[in-house]
Amino acid sequence: MGHFNDVSMDDPDEGFTLATRPSVPLAVSDQAIPPAADILALATERRTTAERHDDRPGVRQLDRLRMSIVSGARLHWVLGDLMVGSINNPGAVYAVNRAGCSCPNGLAGKAACWHVCLFDLLLDMQEEAAATADMAADSAAERATMGRRLCAARRQYQEV
Ligand SMILES: [Zn+2]
Repeated sequence: MGHFNDVSMDDPDEGFTLATRPSVPLAVSDQAIPPAADILALATERRTTAERHDDRPGVRQLDRLRMSIVSGARLHWVLGDLMVGSINNPGAVYAVNRAGCSCPNGLAGKAACWHVCLFDLLLDMQEEAAATADMAADSAAERATMGRRLCAARRQYQEV
């Protein structure tokens, strides 16, 4: 306690920095669906990789995924489950989680459907967003440290 009081008395900037520095990285909520363009960009990238590895089921799945996103598939999260509105079967909503998917293909135990593919893709995007937020917080902290050093340097200069 006393430490922080001393610091803010010595250097008003320090108190300001402490108050505004994001102490927690921007919350990456599982409620947020990234923009369709971002989903499509990553799906296209993965399709290229799948094609290079001659992964035909992967390519087909990513093609369906991209087509559905372009068609405006409705997506939202409910407590960690991804809900996907069916394009072919209006009104039907499929729930996807790590255990699988509730669509006819998923229930039939066929090779993972494109919903699962989308689920994995969105989770990867969230992880990447979280990592980016961490880096942003780190660099903000670095800038704050640098600012304090500059202040200290200025003070020294003024005292001379
Ligand atoms: Zn499915």
